[in-house]
Amino acid sequence: MERSLALNDYEIEFSKILEWLKKNSAKKILVQAPDGLKKISRLISEKLEEEGYEAYLSGSHAWGGCDIAVNEARTMGIDTILHVGHHGFVGARTTEVRVLFVPVHYQGEFTDALVNALEDIKRNSFKKITLGVTVELHRRLHEIENLALKSGFHVETGSLENITGLIIGCNYASLRDAEAVLIVAGGRFHAIGAALWMGIPVWRVDPYLKSYEKVDVRPIISRRLRDISSAMDAHSFLVVVSTKTGQARPVLAQSIKKRLLRENRKADIVVIDEISKDVLLNFGHYDAYVNTACPRLTIDDPDIFPGPVINPGELKYVLGKKLEGYDSRDLFRFDFSTGA
Ligand code: SF4
Repeated sequence: MERSLALNDYEIEFSKILEWLKKNSAKKILVQAPDGLKKISRLISEKLEEEGYEAYLSGSHAWGGCDIAVNEARTMGIDTILHVGHHGFVGARTTEVRVLFVPVHYQGEFTDALVNALEDIKRNSFKKITLGVTVELHRRLHEIENLALKSGFHVETGSLENITGLIIGCNYASLRDAEAVLIVAGGRFHAIGAALWMGIPVWRVDPYLKSYEKVDVRPIISRRLRDISSAMDAHSFLVVVSTKTGQARPVLAQSIKKRLLRENRKADIVVIDEISKDVLLNFGHYDAYVNTACPRLTIDDPDIFPGPVINPGELKYVLGKKLEGYDSRDLFRFDFSTGA
């Protein structure tokens, strides 16, 4: 029998979870969810207890499939993590504990906002668009695509890890060549990432607020150019490494440090779980920071670094001491070798 859980327009296929848990002989389960879905994790945990499982709630943020609560699982002797709201692993896979990714499906209505966004794109004379959605909306992709086709658009949609149209905050590979991009996702976060990756006009529809807008990433690009320019003159660097499962890049940090030392600059490496300004300030002044953790920190939250910050892919501009040809895709890249 198909059983699903529903909360505030979200649906979860609970029978599939039970089936998987039984097949994998799970006993002690940690339910982990991003902050906005913590109430759903509570609902799941209560249902699991009713089914005879020992269930625990994870209180950590759960930023993405890169952030699996392995330490909490270890502390509680957990054998299985149910990770709610993300599509799968990002970065390294966790092998220490079994993980089931549990997508939630958004059921709410947002047609009017979508129609208005499509009309706006048309007014700007774009005919060929590429679509991107977050995992909770991937089942609505056909609906979105059909409406765009009916409105006369040529639509290109790719896929990420076999999920059609899927985008995540640090991967926009599913977007295809087009004149404009349409992102359907809550907030501006994913649309900003798409604009930085694609470098073409991006519209976003917020299915929760039933609104749409064209995004403007010029302030972000100008901040990037400013930080890179400042880092060119920096003598001391702090290279930041995250301990999060899919964000930890110790080898990359070591090679960045070596490269900076070769340039007669000073460089230290700091290892942190939750990166914050307070933690970084404890180490005193550095002229610049290199963020090897989530690339979005540099884009969306650069002020948590007490000085100019660059991502690994931007190091080549710092080392080459020139901004010409700056490509905002480098924000998402971890290779700085072309600056060697
Ligand atoms: S954008 Fe950042 S938080 Fe989100 S999946 Fe990528 S690394 Fe993780």
